[in-house]
Amino acid sequence: MQIFQLQQHLSIAQSILTQLRDPQIQQDRWRFRQNLQRLGALLAYEVSKQLPYQHYPLTTALGTATVADLAQQPVLVCVMRAALPFYQGFLEMFDGADSGFVGAYRQEGGTDAEMDIFLGYSAAPAIAGRDLILIDPMLATGASLLKVWHGLKSQGAPRSLHIAAAIAAPEGVALLQQQLDFPASFWLGALDQQLNSQAYIVPGLGDAGDLCFGAKV
Ligand code: URA
Repeated sequence: MQIFQLQQHLSIAQSILTQLRDPQIQQDRWRFRQNLQRLGALLAYEVSKQLPYQHYPLTTALGTATVADLAQQPVLVCVMRAALPFYQGFLEMFDGADSGFVGAYRQEGGTDAEMDIFLGYSAAPAIAGRDLILIDPMLATGASLLKVWHGLKSQGAPRSLHIAAAIAAPEGVALLQQQLDFPASFWLGALDQQLNSQAYIVPGLGDAGDLCFGAKV
């Protein structure tokens, strides 16, 4: 399984990650959402290097160019609510992608990680034979993404599986590596140190959903 991290390369992604983590700057909700969107677009570009392309001659105004285009657009699955701006960045790059939306939330106080995740609203296109990108900005325990995958895979196997997160915890990546029954590539802004006792990523950035949209009751 491949793990790609934007953090390992000096690029403008570093500035975006810095702004996302900065407690002062992240108070500006619009900027926080924009930064998640920009990071999503950068990760989508990285994923795009692994997708299949078709080459063909194109008659331009002045001649013939051999051009390339995606052989087929991927399927994007957005884990709501926090993934919405991050997903939008992917959609900007994969502008013809089919999209699925799944609402996932944690039931506080439970014991079995995956059992404590509830899937709410769910609408997803067919994934069989497609390049599937699961999008969640904070890959913490990995339980939500595992549950989302278990919900989707009954439709048939994708051609490839990609997991995208702005920030991930090693515990979440390890859970998915162990329990996903399909090879997956990880596309991360950063892989952080650990989870705390409330399953927040440390150092992380806090609650991405609340920073995007305000605290929920
Ligand atoms: N979800 C968040 O928004 N932040 C974390 O650190 C973990 C999960």
